[in-house]
Amino acid sequence: MTTLDNIVEEINKAENIVILTHETPDGDAIGSSLAMYNALKQIGKDVDVIIPEYPRTFNFLPGAESILAEGKRAKYDLAISVDCGAIDRLNGWSNYFEDANVSVNIDHHTKNSMFGDFNYVDPTSPACSQILIIVLEALKIKITKEIGTCLLTGIITDTGGFKYQGVTSETFQFVAWLLQSGINVSEIYKNALQIKTRANFELAKIAMNRMEFLENNKIAFTYITKQDEEVVNAEPGDHEGIVEIGRDIEGVEVSVFLRQREDKTFKVSLRSNNYVNVSDIAILFGGGGHVKAAGCKISGTPEQIKNSLVSHIKKLLK
Ligand code: 5GP
Ligand code: MN
Repeated sequence: MTTLDNIVEEINKAENIVILTHETPDGDAIGSSLAMYNALKQIGKDVDVIIPEYPRTFNFLPGAESILAEGKRAKYDLAISVDCGAIDRLNGWSNYFEDANVSVNIDHHTKNSMFGDFNYVDPTSPACSQILIIVLEALKIKITKEIGTCLLTGIITDTGGFKYQGVTSETFQFVAWLLQSGINVSEIYKNALQIKTRANFELAKIAMNRMEFLENNKIAFTYITKQDEEVVNAEPGDHEGIVEIGRDIEGVEVSVFLRQREDKTFKVSLRSNNYVNVSDIAILFGGGGHVKAAGCKISGTPEQIKNSLVSHIKKLLK
């Protein structure tokens, strides 16, 4: 029996199911969660999807109105985690995962810690949503317009609009199939990737003004504070996309973006262009991620964190 067979069996057996994803969720996290939610509803399951905070730009996704900030019951027959590499990143709700009778982890992070009873992890997939196409097929779920919208949103956001290296021919085959099924791919693309909030734009302006170029312009560094977020009335997700601004400047290999969380702790976002494995750097600080997109949390002032990160990154620069 393959892991996929096990997962299908456990889903079929379970009456109530909880879906969880990673903290500060992105389009793939939310798209995967809601694709799974809509799919499990289709086969008559009693299903809760818990995402305490997410960018309101994803409210266009079918099922978003059913997202809960916490579970309706203390214990579920089955817990499914999507797009999450480590149990401590489960949005503060790892207890639902640990307490469930059975747990399933579906993901595409390189260093996934295999924290479920059943782990379906494929790091070669550009998005967790793309893995779900296979899982839903195995469950004999019909990919409706609603499910297709969620899956496509995950794929579009995690591939930067089909432009990252991880994109596979299956990605385009799926999109071609969605188009044939009458799904408005262009509109989903616009909703998922193009439209920015005004606060996001204002935060990006602040971050751009602060951007420094280090180590022969190979590292771009910037940050935003809690105060910046207050000034622009930022909501969850309004910092998205800022780290990519530094990455996309000619000659930059690694982009570093810090976002203040509590007073002395910053969430670090790392991106690379060609050869630096930023996941290795994030792991040094207790974080993780992918080869070209990773993150961690570090305490200190922006200046201290910058110096500490640069001392490691510069060893990997050519
Ligand atoms: P982002 O910079 O967009 O927050 O995250 C980039 C990637 O790194 C994502 O795939 C995310 O899951 C991963 N990541 C970000 N922060 C952390 C962290 O603190 N721990 C781990 N394990 N992964 C992280
Ligand atoms: Mn993802």
